[in-house]
Amino acid sequence: MSPGDCGKISIFVLVDALGWEHLRNHEFLTDILPFRSPMDTVLGFSSAAIPTILSGQMPEVHAHWCLFKKARFLSCFSWTVPLALFPERLRENHRTRRAIGGLTRVMYRISGYFCLYEVPVSILHRLDYVERKDLWQPGALAGCPTILDALSSRSIPYSTSGWRGTDEVRVELCLNALSRMPVQCCFLYLSELDAALHSFGLDSKQARDELVAASVRIRRLLARAHQLYSQVELFVFSDHGMNAVTEAHDLQSTLASQGPKRSHYLAFFDSTMARFWPKNREIGGQLEEVLSSLSYGRVLSESELSELGLGFSGNEHGEIIFIMNPGHIVAPSFVSNGVPKAMHGFHPSDSFSRACFLSCKELASTPRHVKDMYSFFETQLGLQRE
Ligand SMILES: [Zn+2]
Repeated sequence: MSPGDCGKISIFVLVDALGWEHLRNHEFLTDILPFRSPMDTVLGFSSAAIPTILSGQMPEVHAHWCLFKKARFLSCFSWTVPLALFPERLRENHRTRRAIGGLTRVMYRISGYFCLYEVPVSILHRLDYVERKDLWQPGALAGCPTILDALSSRSIPYSTSGWRGTDEVRVELCLNALSRMPVQCCFLYLSELDAALHSFGLDSKQARDELVAASVRIRRLLARAHQLYSQVELFVFSDHGMNAVTEAHDLQSTLASQGPKRSHYLAFFDSTMARFWPKNREIGGQLEEVLSSLSYGRVLSESELSELGLGFSGNEHGEIIFIMNPGHIVAPSFVSNGVPKAMHGFHPSDSFSRACFLSCKELASTPRHVKDMYSFFETQLGLQRE
């Protein structure tokens, strides 16, 4: 393609975990993205925030919240039932878990981000996996169109880096896509800042280096776009922020000693929340009594869940939701045996949970919440919902 003959392109970059509070303490592309504002996010993790960004809907509508939910009937893990009979050291070891993950992904053709984390194999068959399809492809959310569906249905050319591979691999994919054919927009997803923040902390050299690396990659993409397109507009945003971890709590042991028998309820221990499905109301009451006595978190009421866009019609995402106070985490949990230096997934009202929106130009309407991103994409690309 000859330089400058491809018209206009919008470049959208999602930097996972680039929090507004974190950004305020660091220099990051201020020369090319001078218009900056905080964005509120959803309660949960990227598994909830990214579907909300791409669809403009809250989790209760797109039905993606945490990666695991209670199985309603048969789940993609139903085939693991006989494994519960294996001795624990055989069932839960690294090789078995890797094999289970690999087989499940192939058998159920899971194209979304897939990880078993540390979820015990013994309870897998009672759970189902939410992100079965690649969020960066059309048709990812059942019955809930994303911006990629909107672009595809109108045959508007676009490119996306997807979620696979390293940041470097993803930026190369976008660079190649731009050179191959003219596109109206390009979505780049960068995730390595999130990983560095978890492992090394908010003020670490590794996190600072990742921020620099992200800015270098974005500048490379921008430079290539300027070579090929007559008009280039860049927008960088995030899905959530990040809190420093101040204290870890062994919630599983506390419940084992003070709560009802473990066989009387199903539980999922995320790092910043725990979800419960008690056998009956009485067991639920006992669980709530113990949870309410803990100083480091609280049970969310139904009305608060509805206000947070988590008023799901069924109970598969959890009947009792316990959320940790900012900075306090559940450890060990089903997502990690260790204690990360920083974590997200706390209440969205905490300032460190906030995401950010950075723009190359002043907008008539700036996204204030991650769900506003969908209408921003529509406006920027001249689309309207059908
Ligand atoms: Zn993360």
